[in-house]
Amino acid sequence: MDKSQGRHPPRWCRMLLLLALTVLCCQWALCFPAATAGSNGAAAAAAAGAGTAGPTVTAPKDATGRESAAGAGLEGLSAEDRLNLLCLRAAYPQIRAVERGPDGIWLCLDGERRVLYATAAELAARPYAAAALPDRAAGLARRLDPAHLDVSLRASMHLPYLPDPERPATPAGYAPGRWRSYAFLQALYGADAATVRKGLERVSFQGRTVRMHAAAARALAAVEARLRDVTRRRPALKAWLVSAGGFVWRPVAGERRLSPHSFGIAIDLSPQRAPYWRWSRQERHPLQQTYDSEIVRAFEDEGFIWGGKWHEYDLMHFEYRPEIIAKARLLQRLEAAEAATGQEGLLGGGDAVHDREKP
Ligand SMILES: [Zn+2]
Repeated sequence: MDKSQGRHPPRWCRMLLLLALTVLCCQWALCFPAATAGSNGAAAAAAAGAGTAGPTVTAPKDATGRESAAGAGLEGLSAEDRLNLLCLRAAYPQIRAVERGPDGIWLCLDGERRVLYATAAELAARPYAAAALPDRAAGLARRLDPAHLDVSLRASMHLPYLPDPERPATPAGYAPGRWRSYAFLQALYGADAATVRKGLERVSFQGRTVRMHAAAARALAAVEARLRDVTRRRPALKAWLVSAGGFVWRPVAGERRLSPHSFGIAIDLSPQRAPYWRWSRQERHPLQQTYDSEIVRAFEDEGFIWGGKWHEYDLMHFEYRPEIIAKARLLQRLEAAEAATGQEGLLGGGDAVHDREKP
């Protein structure tokens, strides 16, 4: 893919992009039964299908001067922002609308809750300024400073996650999905242990009971169904699938911020075999390349990212982040479309999608 910047594709290329996004989003909604299941399934399907209305669906301004969008996009946004918002809405049916105000773009969730997607300053700084993303040119120490790991939703989705069979040799600090918007997590799952506990469900995984948030539990049950055939064929894999826990209200090891386990969206598997980078003392772990791909794919296909793809690896860790997997799949298909058509502008030319950094 051409990495040049500042080149804008002709209008028909943008139309092709939107058409491709629409088709792919509809396909994706069908591919993620766990994300669209449950009482909000219709809303998720509507969100994914909202792409058919194109990016110009914008409701009249309200009294506060905000524009609310019934569709998945807003005028004037980069291709990457439109893609992010489509993926967020398809992944989380709790998102009822997207609003643009003078201070930035907000997601409106059930129950009158609002979460910032990006500030106006972030959106104005194209494509992704240091203010929006942990400074990619800075050293590892700064990258792992917890103050830089709680970011806007927009920044949390920027580093591309590459689904299996891709196992990129990631540079220091490269960890797609390890940056999170804690405001979004708290709005989705709860800001304290008691609230998170109310949304937990028990799910059986490889003979053990795991507690996760309802949406993640449904996705984990779907992973379990996928793995049933795999472990029947290859029983030796069961040793890699021993749950060491889902929900635990605790900080990230070695940090002060809350672990995603605190929100019931992560599960650790067989930690004796699959270590965390702080315990392992190896900068690159061989398992980052050799960990079984059938396991990783079963999780990725249901909306989980794997911590083995982070430079600061967490090989036991699978985390329910359907927006990141959705974006990864869409970009994969758009890149395939680019390759098939020979058009390099499908991903947005000088826009942020095109500027995304591959390890
Ligand atoms: Zn974990």
